[in-house]
Amino acid sequence: MTRFSIFGLAANALRGHKRWSSTWRDATPKDGYDIIIIGGGGHGLATAYYLARVHGLTRVAVIEKGWIGGGNVGRNTTIIRSNYLLPGNEPFYEWSMKLWEGLEQDLNYNAMVSQRGVLNLYHSDAQRDAFARRGNAMRLHGVDADLLDQNGVRKLAPFLNFDQARFPVQGGLYQARGGTARHDAVAWGYARGASDHGVDIIQNCEVTAFLRDAAGAVTGVETTRGTIRAGKVGMAVAGNSSRVAAMADLRLPIESHVLQAFVSEALKPVIPGVITFGAGHFYISQSDKGGLVFGGDIDGYNSYAQRGNLPVVEDVCEGGMALMPMIGRARLLRSWGGLMDMSMDGSPFIDRTSVPGLYFNGGWCYGGFKATPASGWCFAHLLATDESHPVASDYRLDRFHAGLLIDEKGQGAQPNLH
Ligand SMILES: Cc1cc2nc3c(=O)[nH]c(=O)nc-3n(C[C@H](O)[C@H](O)[C@H](O)COP(=O)(O)OP(=O)(O)OC[C@H]3O[C@@H](n4cnc5c(N)ncnc54)[C@H](O)[C@@H]3O)c2cc1C
Repeated sequence: MTRFSIFGLAANALRGHKRWSSTWRDATPKDGYDIIIIGGGGHGLATAYYLARVHGLTRVAVIEKGWIGGGNVGRNTTIIRSNYLLPGNEPFYEWSMKLWEGLEQDLNYNAMVSQRGVLNLYHSDAQRDAFARRGNAMRLHGVDADLLDQNGVRKLAPFLNFDQARFPVQGGLYQARGGTARHDAVAWGYARGASDHGVDIIQNCEVTAFLRDAAGAVTGVETTRGTIRAGKVGMAVAGNSSRVAAMADLRLPIESHVLQAFVSEALKPVIPGVITFGAGHFYISQSDKGGLVFGGDIDGYNSYAQRGNLPVVEDVCEGGMALMPMIGRARLLRSWGGLMDMSMDGSPFIDRTSVPGLYFNGGWCYGGFKATPASGWCFAHLLATDESHPVASDYRLDRFHAGLLIDEKGQGAQPNLH
């Protein structure tokens, strides 16, 4: 693997950028591996990378039905943060944030991690109290959090509609270490790192069935490029979780919904970091190219199509107009949809399944991008050691049987609200 450096960049610039080598090996499937990861999204690739780098396991393949970066890892709105409330979540997401902070050096790859701050606005006294509680919980876990009053928010984002009649902006909870990362570069960086450690990245190869032995244990997969045997199989297929699990006769506590994202024409820098509306579902940041990147709610019906419908477009734009009316002057450049694996309590799973040899990573809802490094780290730990990693030990598949929901938003078992 070519190591990137300022000298290499300069030398390649002088040669017209014609001598760069491929970022990763496009492997052809072998007969068998110790571990197969289904899904070449951020989570699958990070898992393979940490299996090789941390645990020294290199007879590993990532099997992707499309191309690397074609799923949600390349479709999200790039927000990273660790502003969680519950003990089951906060240490996990903070571990992810710490991994983000060293990721580019670790991978020797520019993922454009930018800690430009995440500001969650509040619009009522009750919401302020809830944010104060969240901020205190974060600080108790050693995570940065600042509760801002209206003046504090005005300094960061003077363009907001502070005095609007229905939802006046009273203040916000601010995490300065939160921000954004370039989503597809994260996939490419992990693919490159995993491949460099000997992992096979196999694209255009769809898993169509599981191989099972007489006792029912999974021993490999059938794919569109042939049969591949494996000691263990890990699923990291995000919005396709229910469909892939059904091939092993598993029914998951997950529903798939579409989430849409929007990008405006490029503007001069105006949005300082990430801003979320507290009285509706709308969030916004600005890319380094200048486009306003924004989104809101999931589409209300179940779907496996990677495109959404117009009522949500209208709803998202209404949220934007309520918060910052000047957004109405910007022209929309493009929009797209991705498939969310919405779990019943809004929290994810990193666990063994009831089928021996089959492991599950999923249920990331619309917040799994920020989790990518820790998810890969913890899934690799589980696959390598058969033990849950301490920061992910609550992400169990059986938590609904025991009533141990991790209900971050306090909204009950309603995926459409999480
Ligand atoms: C519009 C939008 C905005 C979002 N914004 C944010 C955000 O700002 N911050 C945040 O933290 N999260 C965000 N998310 C959520 C985040 O993108 C996902 O939770 C996360 O990317 C899911 O993990 P992944 O990257 O591994 O998924 P994916 O990239 O979807 O990877 C799963 C892969 O599995 C493959 N696959 C499926 N079935 C098979 C099969 N049978 N055989 C082989 N391969 C298969 C798919 O092709 C896919 O490439 C957003 C999502 C969307 C759509």
